Amino acid sequence: MKCPRCEKPRMKTWSELNDEEREVVKRLPASAEYTLEERQATHQWCTRCWYEKRATDVHG
Ligand SMILES: [Zn+2]
Repeated sequence: MKCPRCEKPRMKTWSELNDEEREVVKRLPASAEYTLEERQATHQWCTRCWYEKRATDVHG
């Protein structure tokens, strides 16, 4: 899926992130609202602008 903010073609799931990227994700603002477990299971990230797609954002 394409990043809605910067249009990078491919967003990554937790399992596709490398260790360095995972450290960045842990410091994103969404960590205040969601547990890491929930984010790992349902969220996706853009590694260019660090937009975080949440499970509740799914609408096409
Ligand atoms: Zn992006």
